[in-house]
Amino acid sequence: MIKETTNNIYTAKITEEIKTKSTLKYLGIQKQPLDNPHPIYKFTGPNPFEVLKAQIKARILTGTYILQENLQKFNQHDIDTTCELCHSEPEDRNHFILTCKKLEDRRQKHLQKLTNLVPALQERPALLLQCILDQSHEDLTGLVPADEETMSQIEQHSRDMLYDLHRARTSYQKLNTQN
Ligand SMILES: [Zn+2]
Repeated sequence: MIKETTNNIYTAKITEEIKTKSTLKYLGIQKQPLDNPHPIYKFTGPNPFEVLKAQIKARILTGTYILQENLQKFNQHDIDTTCELCHSEPEDRNHFILTCKKLEDRRQKHLQKLTNLVPALQERPALLLQCILDQSHEDLTGLVPADEETMSQIEQHSRDMLYDLHRARTSYQKLNTQN
């Protein structure tokens, strides 16, 4: 009874909060958050490396992973939001995950695996991005299979993908600061 009330209060609060914060727009709302771990952490197992990858994914999902676009929000000075890797577009999550040309090699094999698993995501970049960030979001209901095996594989591929992109971005940044 208390648990149910707490779940309801939590869900109501977080729903309100998500509506007002653009950084949280990709975050799905868990129905019974006290009983159900978020898919990001549900399928990692005890392997510390998988947990690390899940943590990076969680930061990207909640907007606490610093891209050029949110760097501006945390800084009192004007910051150029242009991607420092390709210099062609503002670096937001869509750019980093799906369109930055400099990261194309790293993303392709993962995207292939994801769209093989969920063909409905091909040619639908907004939903593909949503699935990579949080497959439990309501926008994907009925589109993405909800059986545990598929969910676990989606989680594995998206976790690997975001970690690879993160690694590639970090090494580009190091190169830039050395030059
Ligand atoms: Zn770029």
